[in-house]
Amino acid sequence: MQVIIDKNAGFCWGVVRAIEIAEKELNASGKLYSLGEIIHNPVEVERLKQKGLIPINHDELANVKDAKVLIRAHGEPPSTYEMAQKYGIEIVDATCPVVTKLQTRIRKFYLEGYRIVIFGKKEHPEVIGLVGQCNGDAIVIKSLEEIEKIPLKGKVVLFSQTTMSKDLFYKIKEEIEKRVEELIVVKPEDEAVEFVAKDTICRQVSNRDDKLKEFARSVDVVIFVAGKNSSNGKVLFEICKSENPRTYFIEMPKELNLEWFKDCEVVGVTGATSTPQWLMEEVKKEIERLCNGQNMSFQKPS
Ligand code: SF4
Repeated sequence: MQVIIDKNAGFCWGVVRAIEIAEKELNASGKLYSLGEIIHNPVEVERLKQKGLIPINHDELANVKDAKVLIRAHGEPPSTYEMAQKYGIEIVDATCPVVTKLQTRIRKFYLEGYRIVIFGKKEHPEVIGLVGQCNGDAIVIKSLEEIEKIPLKGKVVLFSQTTMSKDLFYKIKEEIEKRVEELIVVKPEDEAVEFVAKDTICRQVSNRDDKLKEFARSVDVVIFVAGKNSSNGKVLFEICKSENPRTYFIEMPKELNLEWFKDCEVVGVTGATSTPQWLMEEVKKEIERLCNGQNMSFQKPS
């Protein structure tokens, strides 16, 4: 049996950048707080914890005294920066430039009087940061059914969280356009709705879709490695699963199950934009060990 790692999988450059910023700071001072976990991958979070990166929540921010605070790639709402300034906390800003650009665009449309609609998950930290750009005055939808929540009046703009499904974004856009079209036909000119949609899904995510589908089809079994709380992980896992029903989601090598590899010649290991390369390599080794009837164990790199 052969085990191959998807050459297109692994950290996106926004995550690589955030980890490099954190490690540079840790090498210099040995201690850094991170506002929330730096990425949605508990194994990588633990590796960085060993180096001195301590995750804190927003309630703990006011009590930080002895170290700087990292803002992760997801970004933060303006209120976080205001709070840091109020308490004299030094920020190390690792917000992904793609997210910063999206925040700026949302703010601009909001100030121009548009009703802001975000296709995303309202509890996701990136979305909290985006909603903060318009003082909380945004509608967040994550499914086609939720379109009903959008008051189609005046000017409306649709944005997307960077890690959502491109297919679903376009379905939502088309459905809103259809409804707006009907409204424009029946309403007087001054009440007509203006609707614009901005595909703000990160190309690091959407460009992977086709390559991932191809990879999933090219192997007998897919092992998808990601943190269970990774939004991008859930989207990419569903894509794999739709192409290859023998796709399994794991967070750690110890979750592998020998049963999955029955009558299998090629196993493919892949992951989300928050899955470290070293973890996929450990998963590959574990599959090989497991299938050779050896005990499972794995080591994190230092
Ligand atoms: S997925 Fe895209 S937007 Fe998100 S951190 Fe990575 S590069 Fe940045």
